[in-house]
Amino acid sequence: MDIKNAKFATKAIHAGVEPDSATGAIMTPIYQTSTYVQTHPGGHKGFEYSRSQNPTREALENSIAALENGKHGFCFGSGLAAIDAVMKILKPGDEVVSINDLYGGSFRLFDKIYKDMGIKFHFVDMSSPDNIEPFINANTKLIWMESPTNPMMSIADIEGISKIAKKHNVRLAVDNTFASPYLQNPIDLGADIVMHSVTKYLGGHSDVIMGALVCVDDELADQLYFAQYAVGAVPGPQDCFLVLRGIKTLHLRMQRTCENGAVIAKFLKEHPKVDKVYWPGFEDHPNHAIAKKQMRDFGGMISFSLVGNNYKDTERILSSTKVFTLAESLGGVESLTNHPASMTHASIPKEERDKLGISESLIRLSVGIEDVEDLKADLEQAMNF
Ligand SMILES: *Cc1c(COP(=O)(O)O)cnc(C)c1O
Repeated sequence: MDIKNAKFATKAIHAGVEPDSATGAIMTPIYQTSTYVQTHPGGHKGFEYSRSQNPTREALENSIAALENGKHGFCFGSGLAAIDAVMKILKPGDEVVSINDLYGGSFRLFDKIYKDMGIKFHFVDMSSPDNIEPFINANTKLIWMESPTNPMMSIADIEGISKIAKKHNVRLAVDNTFASPYLQNPIDLGADIVMHSVTKYLGGHSDVIMGALVCVDDELADQLYFAQYAVGAVPGPQDCFLVLRGIKTLHLRMQRTCENGAVIAKFLKEHPKVDKVYWPGFEDHPNHAIAKKQMRDFGGMISFSLVGNNYKDTERILSSTKVFTLAESLGGVESLTNHPASMTHASIPKEERDKLGISESLIRLSVGIEDVEDLKADLEQAMNF
């Protein structure tokens, strides 16, 4: 059978990965080489120099492309380097309509680097696709979105937005980091580019910084490949190997993450110290119906605010968990806490944060795959004061 048509778990283990043609090694070797022998000028086996091609990276790129139901995959030295490669296909004067509830680092890249290079950004609430159209004009080249968003877990309708993008001949790029390909495949919903911070769920073990792009269109793929090798922000083969290994359990990790996430979200919702819980699995989440339509499950990313919105209480909770660890990042096997206002989203101006609901007491959880009873007990003791 063609692995590309296999079910997700089979693809996670097999897609893109062939036994090594030189030795038969089942696991893709770490091709720790910068260059490749040529028998005569141009006489090579498709690999010339590791900025352009590397077999370990190629296996990973094919694997991620298959998981996203795409055709072309490209890996980068970080998620932000992957976003940067998308921006490189734009020209001064071009405009981008971006979601407003955005990963802090993406906002910084757009607002502090590409704005000064002559690209105009409109930051728009995309909880309804109708909000987007007024910001599209003849210069608009790209719509940039995330769903679920970080850290407010808002849901944007990928299919609805892709219809608007197609109508105006604008490309749609989706940062799919929070969902992972296990929960959501934007290309199936009409997106042109899928981006991942591979650092998070794809790597899954908090030991690699990496990014990826996936697309279907061959011409777009040529442009992204050009940005990858002309700029050179490529990951090394050792990191690619680690992510290839991580992906083999993506489906199992995500399944447990979703199970644990549902239990923790409900626990928080009933807790007297908690004001609001942001998690797309709740029926009263404003876009629950769209989440249900475009995602296979609801994930383990949860944010919550405290009654009284008191930072002292927040600090106390964040300092006293024993299983949850206070750290930036998400998507690893271990559970993490985060304080968006001072950590991941500190680069967003306070008045923007207030508008988005990123209050002083907001805590974001990345629920890992530990025993859920221990996770619950940990939060219980940390919040018992
Ligand atoms: C982490 C993250 C990024 C940036 O990825 P890096 O690998 O840290 O460069 C982009 N988008 C989202 C949603 C993220 O969580």
